[in-house]
Amino acid sequence: MENGCALCQGSLKNKLVEYNVHGESFGKFPALVCDSCDEQWFNEETSKKIEEAEKKAGVFGLSVETKISYSGNSLIIRIPKELARFMNLKRETRVVIHPEDKDKFCILVK
Ligand SMILES: [Zn+2]
Repeated sequence: MENGCALCQGSLKNKLVEYNVHGESFGKFPALVCDSCDEQWFNEETSKKIEEAEKKAGVFGLSVETKISYSGNSLIIRIPKELARFMNLKRETRVVIHPEDKDKFCILVK
C-alpha cells in the first residue's frame, strides 16, 4: 500500500485519523491517507485494535441495509463505505458468494 492508493493511485501520507462508526468516535488511529481521494488505509495491527474497540462498544459486525442495482446484465450489491473499510474491501478484492438458503447468502473474502 506504500506504493499508492489502491483506489486511485494517489500518494499516501501517514496521519493520525479519527475513526468513527455511525458518528461515534473510537479515537485516533495511525493511517495512510490518500492525498487525492482522502481514503484511509489502516495496517493489520491498527485494524485489529479498531476491531477490539468495536467489539467492546458492541458495534462489531453491525449489519447495514443496502440495495441491489443493475449494471449491464449483472446485479450489483452496493457495500457501504464504512463496511468496506471495516472489512478492508477494495476495488478488485475477490469474494466468493455462497448461497445458504433462498433468502440468505454469505460473502467470503478471499
Ligand atoms: Zn486515493
